Amino acid sequence: MKYISILGSTGSIGTQALEIVRENRDLKVAALAAGSNTELLERQIREFRPELVCIFDESKAAGLRLAVKDLDVKVVSGMEGLIEAAVIPKAEMVLTAVVGMIGIRPTIAAIQAGKDIALANKETLVTAGHIILPLAEERQVRILPVDSEHSAIFQSLQGNKREQVEKIILTASGGPFRGRKREDLKDVTVQEALNHPNWSMGKKITIDSATLVNKGLEVIEARWLFDVDFDKIDVVVQPQSLIHSMVQYVDGGIMAQLGTPDMKLPIQYAFYFPDRKTLNTERVDFAKLGSISFETPDGDTFRGFRLAYQAGRAGGSMPTVFNAANERAVSEFLKGNIRFLEIAELIEYAMQKHKKVENPDLNEILKAEQEAYESVRERM
Ligand code: NDP
Ligand code: MG
Repeated sequence: MKYISILGSTGSIGTQALEIVRENRDLKVAALAAGSNTELLERQIREFRPELVCIFDESKAAGLRLAVKDLDVKVVSGMEGLIEAAVIPKAEMVLTAVVGMIGIRPTIAAIQAGKDIALANKETLVTAGHIILPLAEERQVRILPVDSEHSAIFQSLQGNKREQVEKIILTASGGPFRGRKREDLKDVTVQEALNHPNWSMGKKITIDSATLVNKGLEVIEARWLFDVDFDKIDVVVQPQSLIHSMVQYVDGGIMAQLGTPDMKLPIQYAFYFPDRKTLNTERVDFAKLGSISFETPDGDTFRGFRLAYQAGRAGGSMPTVFNAANERAVSEFLKGNIRFLEIAELIEYAMQKHKKVENPDLNEILKAEQEAYESVRERM
């Protein structure tokens, strides 16, 4: 029996992870955590019977406690509660599927407690990769990527030697606005930006896919997960989302992982690594697909993509500022307060204003985060 703690259980990744738990008798839930969706969380508690749940929003904890008082479950809240869910002794693995850099502290706590990490929450690695990877090595815990591209790279690395990798090729769908120019993007609506051609995901990452900021975050995520220089990470647009990413070796050979776009495969692969288990998803029908195509990402139109490389290469606290400014800008875009192209403008402004701190510790990361929020507010 394998017990897993799922942080962000009510989200897109979290609910798909629970579908996998439902389909496999040898997986059980030790703890669940969500932000504020008590209704769904209650249903999940009744079905999966965790020992502990965290509802981050403290104002909702009393109501949830009352709702599940017939069950033997402890209800906690806030950051302390989220950390309690991350370190619960029963779990051997923690799936970090909360959205945003709120995931940093619970992820660090889980590693310190010796849990393997199934990592979906990319913002955590982008901002604190220099803390998390060495800590995981020290504690001898595995960081298993759930992000589909990184899972594909991880799968393509199996059976090969890391030092023989020539480069990593991340694939991108290009998002809903692929092929458009800045002029065409001035007035796009939130609805249009949320209309992703291939993947159904949470709102924040869907907007990040439309701006290509998601791909930028993934480049930085890859830098940490696979310990490669930015010069060795290429991005190619592959609009059909068939190839999930590739690794090119020193002999020119390329290993790739392909499949229909479905997050259940990377989630399940992380849960069972190094085993593969039956998964009833749609299989690729090459004849029906006909062809696949490739393009170069358009960094002139999607400036956030280029800014990500800049932030990543600058290093230190700059990726935190990139990420935090983006988190805030996306949230303002979703509320209808700014326009689509202003997301990248706000990120750029926050980065220009920031005085980089080398090798920031957790407090300095959180300080850079607040400073980025402040810059965004000021500029708006
Ligand atoms: P969603 O918005 O669908 O879900 C986010 C989850 O986090 C929800 O369960 C939400 O709870 C919870 N949450 C938010 N804030 C807090 C908090 N303060 N404390 C505890 N829980 C919180 O996001 P996704 O599932 O799409 O994405 C999750 C992460 O995975 C992101 O980092 C994303 O980049 C990454 N990812 C997602 C992919 C996808 O296919 N969706 C693919 C690759 C990576 P509530 O429902 O109550 O708000
Ligand atoms: Mg991805």
